[in-house]
Amino acid sequence: MTTWQERFSASMMRTLSTPLAMLVRGEGCYVWDDTGKQYLDFLAGIAVNSLGHAHPAVVAAVSEQIGTLAHVSNYFASPPQIELAERLKRLTGASDAGRVFFCNSGAEANEAAFKLARLNTGGTVQKPRTRILALHDAFHGRTMGALALTGKPHMREAFEPVAGGVEHIDSTTLALEAAIDNTVAALFLEPVKGEAGVIDLPDGYLRRARELCTEHGVLLILDEIQTGIARTGAWFAYEHAGILPDAVTIAKGLGGGVPIGALVTFGAASDLFTRGQHGSTFGGNPLVTRTANAVLSVIEDEHLVENAERRGRELRAIIGGLGSPLIDEVRGRGLLIGVGLTEPVALKLAAAAMDAGLIVNAANESSIRIAPPLIVGDNELAEFEKRFGLALSSL
Ligand SMILES: *Cc1c(COP(=O)(O)O)cnc(C)c1O
Repeated sequence: MTTWQERFSASMMRTLSTPLAMLVRGEGCYVWDDTGKQYLDFLAGIAVNSLGHAHPAVVAAVSEQIGTLAHVSNYFASPPQIELAERLKRLTGASDAGRVFFCNSGAEANEAAFKLARLNTGGTVQKPRTRILALHDAFHGRTMGALALTGKPHMREAFEPVAGGVEHIDSTTLALEAAIDNTVAALFLEPVKGEAGVIDLPDGYLRRARELCTEHGVLLILDEIQTGIARTGAWFAYEHAGILPDAVTIAKGLGGGVPIGALVTFGAASDLFTRGQHGSTFGGNPLVTRTANAVLSVIEDEHLVENAERRGRELRAIIGGLGSPLIDEVRGRGLLIGVGLTEPVALKLAAAAMDAGLIVNAANESSIRIAPPLIVGDNELAEFEKRFGLALSSL
């Protein structure tokens, strides 16, 4: 009899490595594999399943909307689409002058943002600017424009030439000050570098970036695809710095599992795109926008922004309290946590966690990424402590 691993490797594109398990069902913060083994899911589909698995509000939204009106094309509006755009303007702080473009993934949101950047003249010169700044080791997605922004040469090299004009700089205010001037169209930043292993920006970086971008007419574009939608204990991570960007890209946690991305613009950046300059067939269809509205309602009604902040603090204390010599530091904010290890054993540790019934992610060889659903409570934290402790002591 052929195993699912054999069927997977015979039919799936070789871009993917062999999966860690065959998952068949989920409920709340738990998932089950095809052998009936239960796992505590502290990765949440990489910060996607904001409300965990099979949340009744998501189930109801998807079921009702697909039985009512699933897709209409961009020749037509639908009530959930406009409602979601209005909510995102409010939650991001873009307010009345904001605008929203809907797409289907993080990379697509960054593609839209890349095109937005190309339209920036800084209000001073006639010709759009072509220089774009991004950070070394940043991750912005795998499509050609998003890949050009991604600061990981090993992901880019086989596919060059990618979209031009992007310069990668170190994550210091000094490097930014040296590179930025009025020939730059946009600065792309992740407030916390998630794929790099949950790496925080230096203190004060975002504020300084805001000042410099304003001074030089550069668009400050924040990629909050991983950090947004309450993940860091604020609706958006830039709130911690007390700033607003010119644009923010959103995806992962917005749909609670359905594919949706969004670009939200602030102020004058909302006037850059004109009719016909961008589009997406599926973008903002009633099915996904209805579901995202349901996700946002639960986050608001059940105070999950506050929960992310509180449980993040508790989780940090638990990890520190395990007293393992393998743990070097705990990074990140809210429920986006990076555990820096003293040895390059992240893959082994993540595998040991799977054995102990816990899903966490080896973001690189010496970093574990932890991103549980925003609904985690006392019971899940207690289970995490047991299972992560077991995994650590088994190495
Ligand atoms: C996941 C991610 C992306 C890419 O999103 P996809 O939906 O995989 O295209 C881009 N930027 C950041 C910060 C991400 O975490």
